Amino acid sequence: MTFYRLVAPLWFGEDYAASLADPTIVEAWNQRLNAQREEINSLKRHSTEQIDALTLRLGEMQARLMRLDALGQRLVEVAKLDQGEFNFDTPPALGGPIESYSGDSYRLPDLTTSLDQIQAQIDHRAQQLELLNDLFANRQFEAERFIAGRPITRGWLSSHFGYRTDPFSGRRVWHAGVDFAGKEGSDVIAVAAGVGTTAGKRGGYGWLVEINHGGGLVTRYAHCKELLVKVGDIVQKGQLIALMGSTGRSTGPHVHFEVLKNGRQVDPIKYINRASR
Ligand SMILES: [Zn+2]
Repeated sequence: MTFYRLVAPLWFGEDYAASLADPTIVEAWNQRLNAQREEINSLKRHSTEQIDALTLRLGEMQARLMRLDALGQRLVEVAKLDQGEFNFDTPPALGGPIESYSGDSYRLPDLTTSLDQIQAQIDHRAQQLELLNDLFANRQFEAERFIAGRPITRGWLSSHFGYRTDPFSGRRVWHAGVDFAGKEGSDVIAVAAGVGTTAGKRGGYGWLVEINHGGGLVTRYAHCKELLVKVGDIVQKGQLIALMGSTGRSTGPHVHFEVLKNGRQVDPIKYINRASR
């Protein structure tokens, strides 16, 4: 023993033995090791946090998707569409986050698969909702733009379209619209959806609302007491747009109602008398 103890420094070389024993080097090594351990732990913690956050988002996405499905399903029912054409009640893909989420963090491959599945579901639903939207837009817009009914809720037809005796001059003159008489301040409503293109005072018309319905069709509501829409307003069918009055060239409270087709007044009676679609 004594021999080795004596010999070892000689055998390994004096410097090497000394370096092994150097406490500062050992300390440095330990520090490096600890730093790496800490880094790994931090990375692990970080990725777990990220996975948890992603899992949470995945759960939210699927909840949203389910709400969209419910909405789509309701739209299909409301519109009385062919159910087979729009399928919003397909069961969620197997292994979805809601069924399997148990509080544990996802493993990465699971998460990737779930994200892919939900992406595919969203793409599919988006496509269906898009189709549904197109269908709705066309159908509803056409029906809404369809001019039908009277521009008032209470009152009576007091003058037809065509030649008549002018109430001011007593002469035979052309009457370019239909008159509805009623109580001053009663409702004047839009006969179809459109955009307000005139809302103001205009000569003999008095306070006038003009609505463009597209397709070359315009309606006018004249002699109003008060206007309730502005130029540029989107107007719904049946919307209250003005109050009946006697402004302009008028002898008493009434609405002078015109329908213009490609800029020319036509007899509104066929529009008034037809049933709404
Ligand atoms: Zn008139």
